[in-house]
Amino acid sequence: MDELPVIDATVGDAGELVEVWRAQGEMDGQLARALLEGSGIESMLSGEALRLTHGLTVDGLAEVRILVREEDVTKACEIIATMENVSSCPNCRFPVRVEDARCQNCDASLPRGS
Ligand SMILES: [Zn+2]
Repeated sequence: MDELPVIDATVGDAGELVEVWRAQGEMDGQLARALLEGSGIESMLSGEALRLTHGLTVDGLAEVRILVREEDVTKACEIIATMENVSSCPNCRFPVRVEDARCQNCDASLPRGS
């Protein structure tokens, strides 16, 4: 997948933000965000910053990064791993796509589902 030029998120006074998931498109990102909010976890989509910066509409293939506060990372990973076609990395517990060969977080090789 092509790497998009994603602008660093502006964290303001929200403290340290950690990327826990790269959604494929804004809808996917909003879905993950809604799930997190339902569990009381605030999140930020860095794709929003990208769109605002460039005045573009993020298309269905754009990568949207989901950032949460450092203290919410573990729980956020568990929640995102419950999404459709998402599993969790056996090494670092970060959410991974079932079709991915490598973890986006720790670069561990993932067992491919058969
Ligand atoms: Zn990992």
